[in-house]
Amino acid sequence: MIKESAYQIRVLGVMSVLALLASGCTPKDASVISQADQMNTQLQPAVMNDPQLQDYLQQIGNRIIAAAKELDAQGVGPKTHFSENTQWMFAQNMKFHLVNSKTLNAFTTGGEHMYIYNALLQACKSEDELAAVMAHEYAHVYCRHVGQGMKRQYGALAAAAALAGAGYVAGGKEHGAQYAGLGATAGGAGAQFLNMGFTRSDEDEADKYGFMFYTHAGWDPKKFDDFFQSMIDAGYDKTPAMASDHPTLASRVKATERRISELPANASTWHKPPIADNRKFAQIKAQAAADAKRLPDDTTLANSQQLLQALPRSCVAPVPQQDEIQARQALSERAQKAQQTQAATPADPAATPPKKKKKPAAQ
Ligand SMILES: [Zn+2]
Repeated sequence: MIKESAYQIRVLGVMSVLALLASGCTPKDASVISQADQMNTQLQPAVMNDPQLQDYLQQIGNRIIAAAKELDAQGVGPKTHFSENTQWMFAQNMKFHLVNSKTLNAFTTGGEHMYIYNALLQACKSEDELAAVMAHEYAHVYCRHVGQGMKRQYGALAAAAALAGAGYVAGGKEHGAQYAGLGATAGGAGAQFLNMGFTRSDEDEADKYGFMFYTHAGWDPKKFDDFFQSMIDAGYDKTPAMASDHPTLASRVKATERRISELPANASTWHKPPIADNRKFAQIKAQAAADAKRLPDDTTLANSQQLLQALPRSCVAPVPQQDEIQARQALSERAQKAQQTQAATPADPAATPPKKKKKPAAQ
């Protein structure tokens, strides 16, 4: 009974959040922050808890955030940035997590969490490339793209969840709603992130403000697009589905070149040496690679890694990648199986409507 009630509350909780958001409101910061915190709990097993590495990432992050704070004080930012109080974005709680994943990605759930995947760190040739990606992720938070993405998703999500949720709560069959299934997998906190890719204009805006933070914080403007260029060289712009809504990496490189040419004359005075020079940066990468090998390979880590793999990759790749689609499918199937199992074995027989009594399975 307790088990089932808890599950029902969870399903109902997801549904009420979804229904609220389907009403057309953009979620408030407090809601995004709390949902991001829940998602972070799901991802914790994959977070690499090496104090030195975390400290390094945080130092880069703090430099980005300090630059953003100055620009905020000057009134620089899109309308969405100034739609609510901004001070929490510059507080110490803002965390950049290094996660143990072989997927090439960086992602933010909004709120106080940004994720840098170890595969991406390993692909960076210098601190500038890493700082550029981190500044881009932070810019998604600064521009409140996650809240807007949630609002976009909730119409479809609410409809699907209502079907699957109602079906489950009544003890009936699930309705094959992938969104609700994903929501259940991530403890009610995942679906909105798994299904929420940023739009083309979100990505462009995150590049625009990310570039400002990065240059004001002192890294080399000319290296901001080096990571995109590496992705182009690796063939990421040659995907057949390039007609998609996502910007090509080449267009992002071009926009960066334009932004470099538009920098004010005093931009060179912003320059500061990197926190880690190239030699030190190579050591940091090696340390992260060694840590990733040492971490226990258990189910909780595998689950978190699958979740990480399923998160959209629009920050670094122009179209969804095959393994990303497969991971999403696998998560959804796993959640639906779990729902069926739970529906078939209620903890308290008294709570089950006394309909047809199933015969015991054949001996
Ligand atoms: Zn992005």
